Amino acid sequence: MHKKILIAIAFITTGIATANAQQKMKPEDTEYYTPVPPVVTPGKTCGVPPSDAIILFNGKDLSKWVTTNDPTKPADWDVHDGIVTVNKKAGNIQTKQSFMDYQLHLEWREPINIAGTGQARGNSGLFLASTGKGDDGYEMQILDSYKNSTYVNGQAGAIYKQYPPLVNPNFPPGVWQSYDVIWTAPRFNEDGSLKSPAKVTAFFNGVLVQNNVKLKGPTLYIGNPSYKPHGPCPIKLQAHGDKSIPISFRNIWVRPLPDPNS
Ligand code: MG
Repeated sequence: MHKKILIAIAFITTGIATANAQQKMKPEDTEYYTPVPPVVTPGKTCGVPPSDAIILFNGKDLSKWVTTNDPTKPADWDVHDGIVTVNKKAGNIQTKQSFMDYQLHLEWREPINIAGTGQARGNSGLFLASTGKGDDGYEMQILDSYKNSTYVNGQAGAIYKQYPPLVNPNFPPGVWQSYDVIWTAPRFNEDGSLKSPAKVTAFFNGVLVQNNVKLKGPTLYIGNPSYKPHGPCPIKLQAHGDKSIPISFRNIWVRPLPDPNS
């Protein structure tokens, strides 16, 4: 047989084998439990936006947000007392505006009377780029990880199912906590192949938890991630389906950044 045909068959066979292997995987196959990130007590958490920030949530309305599964509909989460609380029935919400590289600040609070364990305790998520409906995109996990163990690459501050946080600086439920994230969007070649992966640096309550990690692709609950080409994306917040009392957010702002490679 012609050598090129043999190579093509080998590629196709490998592709089918990979797809089959992904289908046979279980959620537990990409969850691991050690080493556990050390617990540290943070100093300060929250702050005032800088003068050049785009304010995504100012405590008054969700005019910068829409419903993820139908972006023609306004975001239907509960705004009250200067904060916004997840409405689980309404599903995920995302920004109207799309972004490439940016610095983001976000504050979140678990209810003081939170119940549940593991992933079912105050689960939400910050999708640094929403690539589609539902939970499509790149998730930085939000969870009550104060004395609540789970797989370490699924605790608060993790790039979900990819990188655990370097340390665990969680405050207890009822206390406002902050994420400050530097997101570098992935770049793709004209043929759709990956030019450079997404990168994340993140501070959790002012403590470094992700140090310029290179993402393996968008978040997957089951299986190993891989990239599909995309351009600028909205930022998304997760209405997780767990049974615990919904969490709240406040003081969300973003500063678009220039392409670090240009
Ligand atoms: Mg989540």
